[in-house]
Amino acid sequence: MAQHHCSSPSSSLAMISEDEELILDGSESGWVEALTHCDHLSSLSPDLIHIPTPDTPCNRCEHPDENWLCLCCKDVLCSRFVNKHMLDHYQNEHHNLALSYSDLSVWCFSCNAYLDAQVIQPLRPAYETAYILKFGSPPPSGTIEHAQNVDKEANTSSGI
Ligand SMILES: [Zn+2]
Ligand SMILES: [Zn+2]
Ligand SMILES: [Zn+2]
Repeated sequence: MAQHHCSSPSSSLAMISEDEELILDGSESGWVEALTHCDHLSSLSPDLIHIPTPDTPCNRCEHPDENWLCLCCKDVLCSRFVNKHMLDHYQNEHHNLALSYSDLSVWCFSCNAYLDAQVIQPLRPAYETAYILKFGSPPPSGTIEHAQNVDKEANTSSGI
C-alpha cells in the first residue's frame, strides 16, 4: 500500500545571497566614526612636523603609493591591502598609530579604530603637515591657530 505523497517541495535555493558589502571592512553602518580619544598617544613621535612626503615608497617592498606613516618612528609602510608591512610593523614593534597617506586618516591599531586627528591635539601636527605635503596648502577646516599659550609648563622649582 504505497501512499502517494504529493507535496512537491518547492526548492527555493535562490535564497542564498552573497553579501558582497562585507568586503568593505569595518563599515557595518556605512560610516565609521572616528574616536576623539585614544589612550595610546604616548608613543607618538615628538617631532611630527618633519615627516616623509606622501609619495615615499614602502620602506620594505617599495610599494609606491597609498602607504602609511608610522606616527611613532616615521617609518613609511604599505597597507594591509598590499603587503601588510604597516600591520607587520605594529605586530613586531607595537607602534600602534599610523597615518594614511591615501586619505590622511589616522588609525590606532590598539583601539582598532580611526582617530579624529582634528580633535585629538597631539595628532594635528602630523595631520596638517601631511595635508600640506599632499595638497600644497593647509586644510580648509580646522586650521592651525597659533597657540598663544606655550605648551611647555614652566618647570620652576619653587622650593616648597
Ligand atoms: Zn588608541
Ligand atoms: Zn610594503
Ligand atoms: Zn614605527
